[in-house]
Amino acid sequence: MLQQVDKKLIENLSPKDIMDATYEASKNFQIRAFFEAKKEILEAQKYSEQEFYEILDAMIDAETERRYVLNKMRQITEPLFMEDLVKKISEIPLENVIRDVFYLKEQGYVEEQVEVKTKEIMKTIKGEEKTVEVKEYFYRYITLPESTEFREHYFEPVSIVDEAGVCCRCGFCSAICPVDAIKVDADSLEINDEKCMKCGLCFTVCPRSFSINRAYENIIKLTNSLSFSEKMGGYLSTYSGSTTKDEIKEVRQDGGIVTSLLEYMLTNDIVDAIIAVKHSDKLWKPEPVIVDDIKDLYKTGGTKYANSPSLNLLDKAKEYERVAFVGVPCMMNALVKGSLFPSGLPFYKNIIYKIGLFCYESFSYDEIIKLVKEKFEEDINNLTKMNIDSGKFIINLKNQEEKIVPLKDVQSYARHTCHFCDDLTSEYADISVGSIGAPGGYSAVVIRSKAGEEIYQGAVKAGIIESKELTEVKPGKFLVEKIAGIKKMNCKSIEWDI
Ligand SMILES: Cc1cc2nc3c(=O)[nH]c(=O)nc-3n(C[C@H](O)[C@H](O)[C@H](O)COP(=O)(O)OP(=O)(O)OC[C@H]3O[C@@H](n4cnc5c(N)ncnc54)[C@H](O)[C@@H]3O)c2cc1C
Ligand code: SF4
Ligand code: SF4
Ligand code: SF4
Repeated sequence: MLQQVDKKLIENLSPKDIMDATYEASKNFQIRAFFEAKKEILEAQKYSEQEFYEILDAMIDAETERRYVLNKMRQITEPLFMEDLVKKISEIPLENVIRDVFYLKEQGYVEEQVEVKTKEIMKTIKGEEKTVEVKEYFYRYITLPESTEFREHYFEPVSIVDEAGVCCRCGFCSAICPVDAIKVDADSLEINDEKCMKCGLCFTVCPRSFSINRAYENIIKLTNSLSFSEKMGGYLSTYSGSTTKDEIKEVRQDGGIVTSLLEYMLTNDIVDAIIAVKHSDKLWKPEPVIVDDIKDLYKTGGTKYANSPSLNLLDKAKEYERVAFVGVPCMMNALVKGSLFPSGLPFYKNIIYKIGLFCYESFSYDEIIKLVKEKFEEDINNLTKMNIDSGKFIINLKNQEEKIVPLKDVQSYARHTCHFCDDLTSEYADISVGSIGAPGGYSAVVIRSKAGEEIYQGAVKAGIIESKELTEVKPGKFLVEKIAGIKKMNCKSIEWDI
């Protein structure tokens, strides 16, 4: 969706404007840190020399474009809505202007002014028409006054995200860190201070550091690229689907849509490999895996409710040209954030499909064991399935028994970091899949890109998936929006200790 800076476009701007912008860009701390650590970066072997220069070039071009946008904004005296601002800087593609304004805000140059208005609407509550008040938010953008005291905001390494207790252990910072200074596993994050060259790139791409929601919403609305729902993000279409393959029915969580799509992509040579999750040596402890052979695919079927830092595997999956990644919403967010910022050049260009799961919360492996023991009086090794459905936490046992407790009774076992997450439906995926909204044995599917629609329709045409519109089934899209709205409403704000 987003464009890298077009060199020809920059060449078309006035030479003086470009020189001013390039001069300002050269002072950016991220670019300097990255450039000065060339030797250490090449020694770490995460990026080749060619990739190093590609990333550096993209960072310089993007920062130059940002400085140009900043200089143009400084000539505007009134705070403007984004739709008016992009018209004033129409020589730059509007997606890029939006991206630039939001990054300039994080860098400390731009202020977002919020106006809240209250309006009354009619709503049917328990069969009765009632008037209710709703708040509407309006956002305008303006540069902050220039001052000699001003220092561009410096992005700290992500240890501050961990110290704030909000790291969701997605693993993306570890995958992109140019000097390999970050280790992330399911329960901890460690930064090697001796290796770290303080480039702040990990903070830039971390899904928890600053939100991209408003930037993305503006891009969707102003490009008219997707329908937009306040509760479940941008989408093209919604379906209820189920696999037609008996072998997948044996291993699936809900409709077996994820495994069916992965099988379709692998067998039709659409991707070379998949990053998914299987049980590790310890049953129910997830282990991220790269699958390049269909015979290993079914081991990944079914949900493991403990978190898996799957983005850690991106570096290992570099040898494959076309990869599909399966993960939870925070991981989809990280992947898109890393392709928006700092430069519009994705760190991993080989991730060509993102399949996102719905996710209200996840658990640490230790807490899952505890939950099963304390709430069900069972040993985790006796379980054949765990499921969250219609407000219940359900387990199935090897002896065919099913046990159920209300979901509210197990929520205290969920990870603290998940309380800071506002995305139920993987809003940044190409295809999102969950159980909410679909009938038993089916999955709710939200398609969010043309590439996602092609894959889904291809699998339907191939006869591996049977599908209906989500609006044709009960409980349907209404319930997805309702639960997604509840998650957003309950999401806590992060308090930074800076
Ligand atoms: C932690 C977690 C919480 C969830 N919470 C909800 C919820 O509240 N509401 C809802 O509607 N749906 C939720 N889901 C999604 C739901 O459980 C199913 O995964 C989804 O409906 C797809 O079902 P399926 O039959 O199509 O998938 P399958 O064909 O069974 O494939 C499942 C896929 O999930 C991947 N996977 C399994 N565990 C993990 C994990 N821990 N991390 C990353 N990937 C994993 C596997 O690699 C596999 O590719 C959650 C999933 C997870 C992982
Ligand atoms: S990128 Fe992911 S793993 Fe790294 S600090 Fe942020 S949330 Fe944690
Ligand atoms: S830990 Fe973060 S700040 Fe340090 S080198 Fe790695 S990406 Fe840069
Ligand atoms: S609730 Fe959010 S932060 Fe927690 S695992 Fe799910 S997507 Fe990640």
